[in-house]
Amino acid sequence: MFFDYYLGQESTVCILKILLDETQIGLGIDRLANQLKAHYHNQPVTIVGIMTGSLVMLADLIRRLEMPVRISLIQASSYRGGVKSGDLVVQDQMMLDIKDRDILLIDDIFDTGKTLVNVTKRLTELGPKTIKTAVFLNKLGQSKVAAIPDFVVFEIPNEFVVGYGLDYEDLYRNLPYVGVLEETDLQKHIAE
Ligand code: 5GP
Ligand code: MG
Repeated sequence: MFFDYYLGQESTVCILKILLDETQIGLGIDRLANQLKAHYHNQPVTIVGIMTGSLVMLADLIRRLEMPVRISLIQASSYRGGVKSGDLVVQDQMMLDIKDRDILLIDDIFDTGKTLVNVTKRLTELGPKTIKTAVFLNKLGQSKVAAIPDFVVFEIPNEFVVGYGLDYEDLYRNLPYVGVLEETDLQKHIAE
């Protein structure tokens, strides 16, 4: 146990290092916005953000886009509480009508890829004109699906990261940077 100044309480996990700082993240989102402008030009786009992890990226990205943009949200959670993957639960009560629309689905991180593939499947059933996918992070070597995201802001090694929307037990999402949580502490935490 140590005192975590972020949480303001005793904790068993700690941020080991900063993987991406605010400046790097800002440049990465600029880059993505430029790629999207080149892809969509002035065409209207419906951006579907997978909650809750994509929230921060969504807010930063849409303010850099100039085409007409509609925002829609979908909830998909597979990591219940900690770092272990459970069954994927998708809730789409906050979805706009996406029939015949150009859709950009965004998520915080592509790990096994199952979330993005499952949500894409779900959206395809609603009859959009096109679906592209964009993720903030792509964890290298972890994919268990054939599909890859159309746009990736950063590739990262296989480490458990938090911040810029990504959580550990629903905390740390508001960190302006991406940090690595110490793995041994996480395992101890799960074993408890
Ligand atoms: P996938 O379905 O691709 O395995 O996992 C995607 C989801 O798992 C993400 O939306 C995210 O919620 C969670 N996830 C995967 N890796 C990490 C990670 O390193 N840190 C955090 N905080 N969440 C992760
Ligand atoms: Mg998520």
